[in-house]
Amino acid sequence: MKPYRSLYAYPWDVLDAGVSHFVDDVLAMGIHDVTLAMSYHAGKFLRPHARRGPKVIFPEDGVVYFEPALTRYGEIKPQPHSDPEIRGVLDDLLEDGRLRVHGWTVLLHNTRLGQLHPQFTAHNVFGDSYPYSLCPMHDEVFHYALTLSADLTRQYPLKSIVLETPGWLPYAHGYHHEFSQVRSNVWLDAMLGLCFCPACCAQAAQKGIAIESLQRRIAARIDACLTGPSDLSPDQAHVNLQKDMERDSDLAAFIAMRQTRVTQLVAAIRRALPQTCQLAVIPTVQRPSTLAWLEGSDLSALAANTDWLEMPFYEPTASRTIADASATLQQVKNASKLRAILRPGPPDLGDGAELNEAMDGLQKLGIRDFAFYNYGLLRRERLDALAGTLKTFDAEHP
Ligand SMILES: [Zn+2]
Repeated sequence: MKPYRSLYAYPWDVLDAGVSHFVDDVLAMGIHDVTLAMSYHAGKFLRPHARRGPKVIFPEDGVVYFEPALTRYGEIKPQPHSDPEIRGVLDDLLEDGRLRVHGWTVLLHNTRLGQLHPQFTAHNVFGDSYPYSLCPMHDEVFHYALTLSADLTRQYPLKSIVLETPGWLPYAHGYHHEFSQVRSNVWLDAMLGLCFCPACCAQAAQKGIAIESLQRRIAARIDACLTGPSDLSPDQAHVNLQKDMERDSDLAAFIAMRQTRVTQLVAAIRRALPQTCQLAVIPTVQRPSTLAWLEGSDLSALAANTDWLEMPFYEPTASRTIADASATLQQVKNASKLRAILRPGPPDLGDGAELNEAMDGLQKLGIRDFAFYNYGLLRRERLDALAGTLKTFDAEHP
C-alpha cells in the first residue's frame, strides 16, 4: 500500500482547480491522499495560484461541506454551505477514486453555532462567553460532535476523519480583531482558557472539586496579574503555571476532569464510526505540542482511544520540528500512532532541504505518515519543491 502522504485542501480550491485536474496535480506530486475540509470556520485566505474566483477568500463561517442528514441531530444542527457545487466536491473526489479521501472536521470551534446557542459555549472564570468555542461538557454539544462524525462517515466512504478541536479552544486563537494591550503569556492564556460554564462547574462539584473557591482563587490571581504594573516574562509565566499545577490540587483535578471528558468524546466517536473509517485526532493547535493539555487533550489517553494522533509539528526549523515530535513521543510512547502535519512554506520549513531534514528526523523517530499544509495557500513554487522533496525522500525510504 502506498504510504500516507496527504495534502490538506479546502473544497473551494479543489473546485477552482477542477476535481480531475486537482487529482492529476496531486498524484504528479507523489501524493496519494487528500485531507479535505468537511466542517470549517471563517478566515481570510490569500490564494496565490487561484485560477478563477477570489484571490482573497472569506469562507462562510462554521459550515459543513457535505450534505448532513439533519434529522439525526438534536438541538445543535450543522449548517451546510450555501453553494451546492462546493458541497459536491467530496462526492466528486470519491467518485474520481484515485485519491484516498480523509475528512478534516473542525468540531467544537464554531462561532456560528456558538452565537446560535450561547448557553452551550465555554465561559471563562469571570463568566464571559467565548462564542467561538462550544463546551464539550454539555451533553448537547457531546451529542452534536458524535452525530456530526457518525453522519459524515456513514454517508461517505472516507479513509479516515481528522478531528480538530475536540476540546476547548485555547484563549488566544485569532478571533476577528483579537487585540490586547496586556502582553499574553502561557499562564494568563491557560487561566483565561479554563471553562467555568454551568456544565463544567456541575461536573467538577460531582468530582469533589471545591469549584467555587477554585473559581474565586483563579479570578483573584488573574485580577492581580491584570492590575499589576507589568507583564510576566515568558519564563516567569511558565514557572507560575507549573507552580499553580503543583500547589493547587483542585486545579490539577479540574484539568484532569477536562481531559477525561475529551477522551470520552473521542472514544465515543471511535465507537460510532464504521470499521472501514479510521479516526485521527489533531489534539492541539498550540506550540509546543505538549501544551495540548490546555485544550483538554491528554496525548497518551487520546492515542489509546484513536487510530492516529495527527500532530501539527509546526516549527520554523527541522531541529525544532524533531524536538517537538520527540517530546510528544515521550507522552505517547508509540510512534506508529503518530501522523505528522508539516508546512513546507512560510512561516515554517522554508526550503526543500529543511523539509527533507525534518522528515528524515521524524522517520528516525518511527513516524512514517506525513501530511502537508495546504494546497491552496502554498505558492506553486512551494508545491513543486514539496513534490521534489517527496520524490527524494520516498526513494530513500522505500
Ligand atoms: Zn464548560
